[in-house]
Amino acid sequence: MATLKVQRPKGTQDVVPSQMYKWNTVEGIVKDTASAYGFREIRIPTFEDTALFVRSVGDTTDVVQKEMYSVTAKGDADFSLRPEGTAGTIRALIENGILNEGFPQKVFYVLSCFRHEKPQAGRLREFHQFGVEMAGTKDPRADAEVISLAKSIIDTAGLRGIKLFINSIGCPECRAKYHAALKEYFAGRADELCDTCRGRLEKNPMRILDCKSPVCSEIAEGAPVILDYLCEDCREHFEKLQQYLTAMDIKFEINPKIVRGLDYYTKTVFEFVTTDIGAQGTVCGGGRYDGLIETLSGKPCPALGFAMGLERLILTMEKQGLDFAAEDTCDIYIASMGDAASVKAMQMCAELRADGVSAECDVVGRGLKAQMKYADKLGAKFSVVLGDSELESQTAELKNMQTGEKVTLPIDERFKAAFNAMLISHMLSAEEIEEPFDELESGDITD
Ligand SMILES: [Zn+2]
Ligand SMILES: [Zn+2]
Repeated sequence: MATLKVQRPKGTQDVVPSQMYKWNTVEGIVKDTASAYGFREIRIPTFEDTALFVRSVGDTTDVVQKEMYSVTAKGDADFSLRPEGTAGTIRALIENGILNEGFPQKVFYVLSCFRHEKPQAGRLREFHQFGVEMAGTKDPRADAEVISLAKSIIDTAGLRGIKLFINSIGCPECRAKYHAALKEYFAGRADELCDTCRGRLEKNPMRILDCKSPVCSEIAEGAPVILDYLCEDCREHFEKLQQYLTAMDIKFEINPKIVRGLDYYTKTVFEFVTTDIGAQGTVCGGGRYDGLIETLSGKPCPALGFAMGLERLILTMEKQGLDFAAEDTCDIYIASMGDAASVKAMQMCAELRADGVSAECDVVGRGLKAQMKYADKLGAKFSVVLGDSELESQTAELKNMQTGEKVTLPIDERFKAAFNAMLISHMLSAEEIEEPFDELESGDITD
């Protein structure tokens, strides 16, 4: 029979086991930091009604017009793979009545998203996002807090050279005036715009500002700036946000060119940008979307959030040579010679694993030498060899694979406790024990 050679689809990637520690590190950082800020995790379906994305992301955006994967099976409604996480998360908050449980509601997610884009470094067709949403507050303190959370993650990861850009794109009222000004500006050069943008001119001229075509972006350079059109309420919101960021010692730059690619944003928008992955790359982008929940549920409820691309975060950490948490390795390898010893090895492994110890023994049928080579390859912290004489004496030598040190331990029911004690002292000697009061001088403690 002919074999079928299958390769992964363009724009997707495999994360092989030896690379998983990077993902575990980054997912650990984002989850721990979000929890420290009081956000709770949520999981939502991979596909949703296409109408949800058309309505929330916007039918004039590239994402909806060009990049969505529709997934329909016979007789199904029109579904699409999620191109981003906010729409589905907000849908879930509404559908599960979570918005009736008091404010603010703070959730985070780690999920994959799908966009049919031209694959390039740091931009895949299936990519992974960490995101947060906070619902039920229009206060600029919430904006500052969400930005502060993103900043904490970037700092915890150790990233350098990341710039925070903020902008306000106003509310529907101030934006109506701005749209009129944009229309007037772009109408003058309408025949130079790309086909897509000419279509956007009437309905949503702001989208022209983030068109990727070189001609459109050149024309957009001279366009009017939203900050000149903000209403009193939006201006005050933006000024207070800047005050809070300054008070929290978070450095930022105002950049009126940041409009974010999706329709649902209002007032605050922000991006954390790195120059370390080739072209300028956005590590994190977000903002406020006060009208989105009302669009989907009929009930007004201000909200805001951000998303971070995990591939991009990992890529930037790699480029900057940052540390990822080390992979967990096998605690003990129990080698054996002979049938009786191999049964004993399996028994001991099962007992140790029940205690949470990572233990392995031979399941291939290798000779002793090959078993020890394998233990080395695994990076096992300790090893034990069982043979007839060990079974006879009910003791065996436990070898520290790093130092070569050996101690004799009983291999009866006392083994587990004895080994756990060895393991704990191994872990303690591996990490530096910090002196917590080192930096405190006696004069610092006063009343
Ligand atoms: Zn306004
Ligand atoms: Zn264009």
